Amino acid sequence: MFQDIEPHRISCEFKPMQPTDAGYVVVYNHDSVLLKQEVNGFTLPTCADLKRIQPGMLNDLQYLLSVDDNAFFLSLQKPSLQPGFVFKSPQIFRKLSPTWLAFAGATAAHLGRWYEQRRFCGRCGATLSHKPDERALVCRECGLTEYPKISPVVIVGIINNDKLLLTKAAAGVYRRYALVAGYVEIGETLEAAVRREVMEETGLRIKNIRYYKSQPWPFSSSVLAGFFADLDGPDTVTLDTRELAEAVWLKPTEIPEGEPNFSLTGEMIEAFRRGLIT
Ligand SMILES: [Zn+2]
Repeated sequence: MFQDIEPHRISCEFKPMQPTDAGYVVVYNHDSVLLKQEVNGFTLPTCADLKRIQPGMLNDLQYLLSVDDNAFFLSLQKPSLQPGFVFKSPQIFRKLSPTWLAFAGATAAHLGRWYEQRRFCGRCGATLSHKPDERALVCRECGLTEYPKISPVVIVGIINNDKLLLTKAAAGVYRRYALVAGYVEIGETLEAAVRREVMEETGLRIKNIRYYKSQPWPFSSSVLAGFFADLDGPDTVTLDTRELAEAVWLKPTEIPEGEPNFSLTGEMIEAFRRGLIT
């Protein structure tokens, strides 16, 4: 999956790190990220690149994460654009290589989105400051502490004997088959969210809910938790057409091959297609 970057290792915990020339910089601005054009595509600029195009931006860099010895820093300042540099949606990290840089860049953009949207205290309106000893922002006026935002999502593969329920979303550009999925509500267990999302989107009852795997999903500031469950009762789907355009029961031989190496949804569908889920 996207996060599997072995033999490289990502560490996302907060450390007091100072920028070096080789460090990568995520310049985050309104859901776009500054990229450097190369012969074969794009890459992230380094501190050395920034020093060249706009040295003032190096004064206010925030350490985000590391992959091996490569540190990634954040800038929320908007540079004057130079030839060879361009702002792109963080979605570009789905296609960037190498894969460790793509995953680190997308994760850094998740943190960048949070820092950009938490400049001011939600309680008193004062400017928030970086907490020196952990990944948090703190209000010096009223003491409020803000931690990074991660919205949990459940994904459910519903199994009816030898068939899996595959869905297509009503909105958006994603046209491949997917699984029932939705955000966890405050006050809900993951299992309760699984039951509720399945009922809301398909009208189906389920049993034997079992955990499969999880995946950090930086594009929606989420962590995804994947479950399989068995149908419990009639298999007639009552589609929530605000969420889904289509839901079909398919046997492994009827399921088209997807992109199992990238997303948890893709891996779950592929695992069922190959007979690995019982
Ligand atoms: Zn405050």
